[in-house]
Amino acid sequence: MDIFKPLDLKDDNTVSDIESTERVRCLIIGSGPAGYTAAIYAARANLKPVLYTGLQMGGQLTTTTEVDNFPGYPDGVTGPVMMEDLKKQAERFGTDVRFGIATKADLSGKVHRITIDDARVIEADAVIIATGATAKYLGLEAETRYSGMGVSACATCDGFFYRGKDVAVVGGGDTAAEEATYLAGLCRKVYLIVRRNVLRASKVMQERVIKTPNIEVLWEHQAIDLFGENGVEGAVLVRKKGTPEEAIVKISIDGFFLAIGHTPNSEIFREFLETNESGYIKTTPGTTLTNVAGVFAAGDVQDPVYRQAVTAAGTGCMAAIDAERYLIQTHS
Ligand code: FAD
Ligand code: NAP
Repeated sequence: MDIFKPLDLKDDNTVSDIESTERVRCLIIGSGPAGYTAAIYAARANLKPVLYTGLQMGGQLTTTTEVDNFPGYPDGVTGPVMMEDLKKQAERFGTDVRFGIATKADLSGKVHRITIDDARVIEADAVIIATGATAKYLGLEAETRYSGMGVSACATCDGFFYRGKDVAVVGGGDTAAEEATYLAGLCRKVYLIVRRNVLRASKVMQERVIKTPNIEVLWEHQAIDLFGENGVEGAVLVRKKGTPEEAIVKISIDGFFLAIGHTPNSEIFREFLETNESGYIKTTPGTTLTNVAGVFAAGDVQDPVYRQAVTAAGTGCMAAIDAERYLIQTHS
């Protein structure tokens, strides 16, 4: 600690904390498929994009092994390799890729001010937000222990690896119902672990679950642990927790899928941007335009429905084109 630094009594970072200010045409926040694809297009359009990677350089796919459904890789590819390819492609056209986290946003003026690492301000004519969404986990130590070894938060991504096996899905919303139904088409048996005695999912999704013979709903059950030698072999559940009928139940499974919701990484923008009730940034349908001129959103941060690498990349492309058109109209 610098003992000669004057004591800062302010509770937010104001201009005096800022070491430097820099002006750019196009700022991209996030280094997942949406951010890098936006960068490829923005760089090729000569917008000289600066991209801040955030803490997770490469985004969510760096936490997975095989990616089988991204077009262009006939033999599949690992998530980290694919994201390194996208980064190289973005850099090849001149994207300035930097490590740093957007910690504050001021989108009130025509020039948008984004603070990076609480230390420097980037003033940008156009901002593309591609900060993704984070799957919620239960918070069990076992989820970390078996990460990539039977624990997943994406059935569409990983379900294929559990063909003919028994799996469990945790959650009672539309995502859980959808993922359980999807997995039921691949797996031998699907347990749906629901903490209450009702599903939150829409009626039509509930009916689909109930009618699927290889889905067994475990009502009023909560997962408390996982076990297995070299990967998940089973889960420990507590039934009717806190009641006289409380009991411990064990199930044998090979895969444990979380479907208890996602949190879009939109907190620092919410003061300025319209979001839905879960925090997903609202865009004008068919575009990446937000309610603030010159601010565009791409990928999972604005997509509560599809949340796939290819759709994130697609909207990243759209955001760069939308940004380019905006800059031509307003800054030429
Ligand atoms: P993300 O990939 O989430 O990237 C967000 C980026 O924003 C990160 O680089 C992060 O560091 C950055 N960021 C966040 N906050 C800030 C900030 N404040 N400042 C700066 N940067 C910030 N999809 C598929 O299509 N196929 C699959 O096989 C597949 N497998 C998956 C496996 C797993 C385990 C998971 C979790 C997801 C999987 N997905 C898969 C889904 C896919 O990863 C996402 O849909 C996709 O990554 C979304 O891309 P994105 O660019 O919107 O965001
Ligand atoms: P959600 O509606 O918020 O549901 C989350 C579910 O997870 C709830 O059932 C909740 O239980 C459960 N849950 C949360 N924390 C838990 C914990 N710690 N332990 C056990 N269970 C826990 O989330 P979602 O299903 O991802 O849906 C998000 C939004 O997307 C919704 O608006 C949904 O309608 C929409 N969506 C639509 C479709 C579609 O229309 N095809 C598909 C997917 C998602 P409780 O019910 O007890 O709170």
